[in-house]
Amino acid sequence: MNESLLDAPDHVLTTLEKDGSRRWLYPRLSPGRYWHARRILGFMLIALFVSLPHIRINGKPAVLLDIAEREFTMFGLTFLPTDTLLLALLMVSVFLTVFLLTALLGRVWCGWACPQTVYLEFVYRPIERLLMGTQGRGGAPKTSMAGWRYFALYGLYLVISMVLAHTFLAYFVGVERLAEWVRLSPLEHPGPFLVMAITTVLMMFDFVFFREQLCLIACPYGRFQSVLLDRNSLIVAYDRLRGEPRGRVQKTLPVLNENQGDCVDCGLCVKTCPTGIDIRNGLQMECVHCTQCMDACDAVMTKLKRPLGLIRYSSQDAIEGKSQKFLRPRVIIYPTLLAIVIGLLTYNIATRKSFDVTLLRNFGSPFVVSDDGTIENALRVKLVNRLEEADEFTITVLSPDSVSLELIEPLELGSRETKTFGLLASSTPDQFTFGQLEAELEIISQRGDRRVVQCKLLGP
Ligand code: SF4
Ligand code: SF4
Repeated sequence: MNESLLDAPDHVLTTLEKDGSRRWLYPRLSPGRYWHARRILGFMLIALFVSLPHIRINGKPAVLLDIAEREFTMFGLTFLPTDTLLLALLMVSVFLTVFLLTALLGRVWCGWACPQTVYLEFVYRPIERLLMGTQGRGGAPKTSMAGWRYFALYGLYLVISMVLAHTFLAYFVGVERLAEWVRLSPLEHPGPFLVMAITTVLMMFDFVFFREQLCLIACPYGRFQSVLLDRNSLIVAYDRLRGEPRGRVQKTLPVLNENQGDCVDCGLCVKTCPTGIDIRNGLQMECVHCTQCMDACDAVMTKLKRPLGLIRYSSQDAIEGKSQKFLRPRVIIYPTLLAIVIGLLTYNIATRKSFDVTLLRNFGSPFVVSDDGTIENALRVKLVNRLEEADEFTITVLSPDSVSLELIEPLELGSRETKTFGLLASSTPDQFTFGQLEAELEIISQRGDRRVVQCKLLGP
C-alpha cells in the first residue's frame, strides 16, 4: 500500500493536529472598531440575559420556561401545552426570522450576539489573558500556568460558570424558586442541587475546554449556512482582487512593489481568528463572522497607509466585482411568509379565550339504554383555566333540543388548573340516524368567555 496516500496535512481540522491531538487556539487580540462595538453590545446582552428573569411584566416574569409545569411565559404572555397552534406559529416565525437575517446579514448572530461568542470572547478569554500574561495582544501563554495563577484562573472560571448556570436555570424555574434552592442546604433538595451542579460543570466544560469546537462541530447553524446564504448575503470576505498576489513588504525597498497586492502576508488575520481559519481561502463553514480578522487587517493597512477594508463586510458577488443584488427571491419570500405567520400569531393571541375545552368520550360501552328507553352517552369534558384566578363554567346544549345534559360535579377550576369532568348526555332513540346524533354544546365561563364544541352521540 502506498502510505503517502494516508498522509494527512499538518492541520486536518483547524483544531486538530496531524497526530489527532487537540490544537489549542489562543487567538491574538485585535482591538479595532468592530471589536469595540462588539464588546459594548456583548456587555449589553450579558446585562439583558442576567436581568430578564428578574423583570416582571403584568406580575409575571418576562421570560419563564417552566418545563415541570408545562407553562411558557414570554413578555407577559403565557403559553400552555394546549396552545399547540400558537407554539407552532411562534417556532415558525423564529425560524423564518433566522432565515431572513442570515440571507441578509450572514452569520451576524454568531459573531455579535450568540451567548457562546459573547461569554467566551468578553468574559472567559479576558480572564485567561490577564492571568496568562497576554492581555496586551493575546496569543499563546507567556507565563507558566502553575501555582496561584492556575488556582486563580480555574477558581474564577468556576465562580463565573456557577453564576451563569444559576442565571440560565432562573429561566426554567424562576428567580424565587432558585433563591430558595440557594438558601437551602443541598441535603434538603438533592435533586435541584444536582441540576445546578451539572449545569455548572457543563458551562465549565463548554467555555474552558470545548470552546470553538461547539461552533465547529456541535452547532447545526454553521452547517446550514451553505443553504441559508446566497451570493449576495453579507459575509466577512477577503478582497482577493486587491490583496493578491500577496507578498511580504521588503523593508529595504523605498517604495512598495507595484506588482504586488495589498496583502503583506503578515498572517495576523489567521492569528486573531478564534476558529483558526484563514479567511483568505474564501468563505468557510468555520467562519463565525466575528470580524476579528477585519480589525487585524485594518490595523496592518493603517500602518502601511493603504485603504482599510482588505478584509471587510461584503458579499461573494460584490467582492468578486460583480453587481450586488438586494432584491432576490429569498428576501421577498421570507418576509412575506414571516408577515403572514406573525399576522396569524397576533390574531390568535388577540382572540384567545380565557379557557380551553376538549370533549372526550368516556371509556367502556359507547352508550347505555336506560330503563325508560333513553339513550345515555357518558362523556368527559376537559377544561383548562388560563387565568391566574379561579373560574366557574356552565355547559348547555345549543342543538338539538332533544339532548339533555347531566353534570357529575360542578365545573369549577382553580388558578391555571386543568381538570376533566364527567358528563352524561341523553336523548330519545328516535333522534338517532344510523346510530349517530350530532349535538352542539356551549360552555360559558363566569367572566363571559364562550366556546362552542361539536359532539357526536352514539345510539342504536
Ligand atoms: S475568519 Fe475572520 S470573521 Fe471568520 S471567524 Fe475568523 S476572525 Fe472571525
Ligand atoms: S491581516 Fe491583512 S495583510 Fe495580513 S495576512 Fe491577513 S489579509 Fe494579508
